[in-house]
Amino acid sequence: MSNSHITATGGCLCKAVRYQVQGPLRDVIACHCTQCRRSSGHFVAATATRPEHLTITEDRGLSWYQPPDLYKRGFCKLCGSSLFFVSETGAEDKISIAAGSLDSAAGIKLAAHIFIEEAGDYYQVSGDAAQVIGGGHAVKMPDHN
Ligand SMILES: [Zn+2]
Ligand SMILES: [Zn+2]
Repeated sequence: MSNSHITATGGCLCKAVRYQVQGPLRDVIACHCTQCRRSSGHFVAATATRPEHLTITEDRGLSWYQPPDLYKRGFCKLCGSSLFFVSETGAEDKISIAAGSLDSAAGIKLAAHIFIEEAGDYYQVSGDAAQVIGGGHAVKMPDHN
């Protein structure tokens, strides 16, 4: 495999999970829903890529939690880092990746806040990014050829 097409690398805090992306990354969406806030400790900021563009290069720590009717969450069972989010239906043809797990910014930016009605009352959602009630954001997956 050539390294020339790797667009991003990342992983968990303890390096027991590492991944690389060989395709475009979507801009970042911050999800303020109750599940994301509880599992992450604050709120979740995630980019996304097509599943076929994500390669897990180290999975020693990778574990998955599947709440009923909610996104499946990939995390490191050794250090607790949140890493991946997958629709339980598999219908979306994308995998979301915790933006904080990227090794570098990879040219993406925060584009929207979703589920702002569930945001904690200890902070304000602010800044230039769109703010959406519910999950119906307008941030598109980048075209991939
Ligand atoms: Zn880890
Ligand atoms: Zn959420």
